[in-house]
Order: sequence, then C-alpha cells, then structure tokens
Amino acid sequence: MDNLLLTIDQYKTEINNFTASDTETAETFRIKYLGAKGLIKELMGEMKNVAQENKKSFGQVMNEFKVFAEAKYEALKAATTNNGKAASDEIDLSLPADPLPVGSRHPISLVRNRIVAIFQRLGFAVAEGPEIEYDWHYFTALNLPENHPARDMQDTFYINQNPDWLLRTHTSSVQVREMEKGKLPIRIICPGRVYRNETISARAHCFFHQVEGLYIAENVSFADLKQTLYFFVQEMFGKEVKIRFRPSYFPFTEPSAEMDISCLICGGTGCNVCKHTGWVEILGCGMVHPNLLDNCGIDSNKYTGFAFGMGVERITMLKYQIKDLRLFSENDVRFLKQFTSAI
Ligand SMILES: [Zn+2]
Repeated sequence: MDNLLLTIDQYKTEINNFTASDTETAETFRIKYLGAKGLIKELMGEMKNVAQENKKSFGQVMNEFKVFAEAKYEALKAATTNNGKAASDEIDLSLPADPLPVGSRHPISLVRNRIVAIFQRLGFAVAEGPEIEYDWHYFTALNLPENHPARDMQDTFYINQNPDWLLRTHTSSVQVREMEKGKLPIRIICPGRVYRNETISARAHCFFHQVEGLYIAENVSFADLKQTLYFFVQEMFGKEVKIRFRPSYFPFTEPSAEMDISCLICGGTGCNVCKHTGWVEILGCGMVHPNLLDNCGIDSNKYTGFAFGMGVERITMLKYQIKDLRLFSENDVRFLKQFTSAI
C-alpha cells in the first residue's frame, strides 16, 4: 500500500508537469491516464492486492487521484481547443515566481532608530507632531514674538492658503504641544522631518531630519543635560570620543550651548572634515528658557528643564563618513544597500 501511495505521488508530479500545445497531445494525456487501458484503471486493479483494512482509504486516494487527473485533462483541453492553437497567455502556475528583491533600511532610519533607542534607555518617550504647524506652536510659544529678529534665523516655507501655517523647520513645536498638555514631568524625544528653504547642495537640503529632546521636572540642572549627552555620545560613537561644550545662542534656551565631539576621522589631530580643528559640532542644547515654560502654562519657579536638538543627517554622515547630503534622497540602490547591518 505504501509503495502504491508513493507511485501515485510520483504520477501526480508527472501530471502536474504535463504540458500540451495542441489537442492531440491533450488526447494523448487522456488515453495515458484516463483511458480504458490507462494508468488509473491499472492502479484500480491493484485494489485486489490491498489488505482488507486498507481498501477503504486506498479507494479514497484513488478517487482523489482520478478527480485530479480529470481536472488536469479539462485544463489541457480548454487550453488547446482555442482554434487549435495553444493559449499562450494562459497562466502557467508551475513557473517559478520572480524573486522579490530584499530591501534594506535607509541609513537615516537606522541612525534615527539608534538615537531613539539610546534615549529610550534613559527613560525618554517618543513624541511626534504634524509637519505643518501653526505660527503659535512654532514661534510665539518658543519665545519668538512677532518682529523678533530670530524669526529670520531659518528660512521658512509658508503655506499660501494661510499665513499662519508653515512647514516646520525644527521639531520644537512637538515639545510645545507636549508642554501644553501640562502633564509633568516631561521626558520626551521628538524625531521628525523638517523643511527649510535652502538651495540643495552637498551640505544643505530643503528637507532633513532632526531628533530633539526635552526634559522638564523639578531641580533639573545643566549637569543633568551634560550627563545625558555624554551618555548619548559614548553609546553612539564609542567611549574614546571626547566632548566639549561651547556657549551659543538659541531663543528658546538660556544658557545655550553647542556640543562638539572629537573628530572621528583624524581623532583630533586635524583633517578636512573637522576643518583642522580636531572637533566637529553635532548638536545644540541648553536650559529651557523660563518664558517658554510660562507660555505653556508651566510654573517656571518650580520647574526647570533642558532641551537639545541634533540633525540625523549630520550624525549619519559622521558615523558613515558620507560627504554629500544629496545621496540620502537620490534613492540610488547602490548607495542605500550598503547599510544593511544594524549599528
Ligand atoms: Zn578631523
């Protein structure tokens, strides 16, 4: 019985692979498998040799096999009786499928996910917001009242329909939205795409990605900010990388600083990438300006906070030593497929 079942399986494969381009070949199939002296009749004849207790199941197998062969014959007939010529547009289900090319994550996504993962380990939660923002979330609440010169610090795309709408040039508006919710403490990380009206070149683009962080609670100090960013840099670039802070100005933080890391290319001895200074800037940061807290209804006498922001492209270019920003948006698979491994 087992041998018979094996034989039937083999014939099934044979039948599956049978092709016919004309009616004669289809008829050959019928005679060979379904005819009066065909295979199925012959196998049925084996019934007398099958043990009594197996006769029922063998009969079922044979019936299924017969239905299978008949269906194939009907298909062959239908394919070949179309004016005598083979229906070449018939779908051949036995053909191997086209292999699907396997994609890889975009380097920007890899680095963004890595940045987010590092801060998540420190207890930061991810917050996201709209890319089209109101003026309020964007400027006024961020300590930039109308006519403030800092409104011109970035080239903003405005939406024609409504002068109050704009494409965000940074993700700080997400922080404002979180602060307005009034749930304290706040410990969030905001990854997102931002837009600036800049001419596209190797070093500038009209859209790119940022990750900003915000921590507001009681007794948050600049030391907390430094320690958080030390941890980030060591996780991202390695323990041997050095860090320095330079005083800077941002309207939404006071005091403000920019953070540099020792050049990853030359290790601090000076090269083209670091413009022979041994340092490269990677982010801006500072203590949240009390006006910002007040604008969002948070008691600035009780709470303090820090904020920081970095460009994902910049970190990615440093990490992978990529020299041209435009490569990220050209969708050249030869470039993109180099970044398959997790970092
Ligand atoms: Zn260097």
